[in-house]
Amino acid sequence: MKVHEYQARQLLADAGVAVPEAVVVGSADEARAAFEQLGGKVAVVKAQVHAGGRGKGGGVKLVKSAEEAHEAAAAILSKPLVTPQTGPEGVPVNKLMVAAGVDIAHEYYLGIVIDRAKRCPVLIASAEGGMDIEQIARTKPEALIREPIHPHLGLQGHQARTVAYRLGFEGDQIKQAASILTAMAELFAQTDASLLEINPLVLTTSGKVLAIDAKANFDDNALFRQPVVAEMHDPAEEDPAELEATEHGLSYIKLDGNIGCLVNGAGLAMSTMDIIKLHGGEPANFLDVGGSASEQAVTEAFKIILSDAHVRGVLVNIFGGIMQCDKIARAIVSAAKIVGFEVPLVVRLEGTNVDEARRIIDAARADIPTLQTADDLTDAAKKVCAAVKAA
Ligand code: GDP
Ligand code: MG
Repeated sequence: MKVHEYQARQLLADAGVAVPEAVVVGSADEARAAFEQLGGKVAVVKAQVHAGGRGKGGGVKLVKSAEEAHEAAAAILSKPLVTPQTGPEGVPVNKLMVAAGVDIAHEYYLGIVIDRAKRCPVLIASAEGGMDIEQIARTKPEALIREPIHPHLGLQGHQARTVAYRLGFEGDQIKQAASILTAMAELFAQTDASLLEINPLVLTTSGKVLAIDAKANFDDNALFRQPVVAEMHDPAEEDPAELEATEHGLSYIKLDGNIGCLVNGAGLAMSTMDIIKLHGGEPANFLDVGGSASEQAVTEAFKIILSDAHVRGVLVNIFGGIMQCDKIARAIVSAAKIVGFEVPLVVRLEGTNVDEARRIIDAARADIPTLQTADDLTDAAKKVCAAVKAA
């Protein structure tokens, strides 16, 4: 689960990381008042969305008067924010953070992610932080410091001090930076985070080390024991179809293609998407209806798939293991009747009671004219790709 910058920075601040004072607002008038409240000198107005690269997309503006704060806020709120991480249609902006401006002497990058190969969290730090860190990682990987964090012992004091020193901090700043690194590592472990990032961490012209941006992702499977984090969930940031799917116990992720997929099991869903691509098609979604695939779940799944206007064909790929194919076939047929299919629907079933299942599907053809059956996965992928091309 992702959270907003203002939420991630609150967690960091609670863990002892220094951050500039800030106010979260929802309108240009509130932004004007926030500017005054923060001392009325310099502030930054920042879009609060679950996407990075806001600075590059015009979602972070430095302002020097209450009027400028009002103007910047109105501009950011007026249209979807397009950043290198959003796609061309952008994301709507509902909330802003107005933060006290700081005079920056230098920008650093700090991040903690899970390193699956090393099987532990790893701290990544760089003295070349700021808006071009992705570029630095690609072209100058030696500028990144990587420090593994022991899963049980955490980041050791000597590691934090060494990293702070290698970043180029001097004297008292080493202490400030090392304590931020320690706080980050503890917060990462305590909150079941999968990513925690401060970019940039800044050294101010007066020698203070502050976090002026924050990003955090959390393990969804751990939310049951992270009530403070779970409370931060913002449904406004999620795709409505994905939310709808979660409510019905389906895992659905919308993609850019035009072939809708309804599959049981995540592994089978992945291979279904692969084989569609192999035969020249583009999947419109990942959808795992789970092991049970009841009639209700299949109906909801069809509704969600067909709510995507890009969908030109649907491939159903079900393996009946514990679940019997004939039950699933009945569910597909009645769901297809309820939903009403105008686009080609290709069904491939395999497993327990598959012969009975095929009879049920064949018998339903008269009622669902766009329905086709397939013998195996390759046949199914070829049929759905051909049907979509022809349509
Ligand atoms: P991001 O682009 O989504 O990562 O948003 P950031 O919060 O990192 O802001 C982008 C950039 O704006 C930072 O890298 C800074 O260079 C600049 N910035 C943000 N806050 C301040 C501030 O208080 N003072 C100054 N001078 N620059 C700032
Ligand atoms: Mg940033």
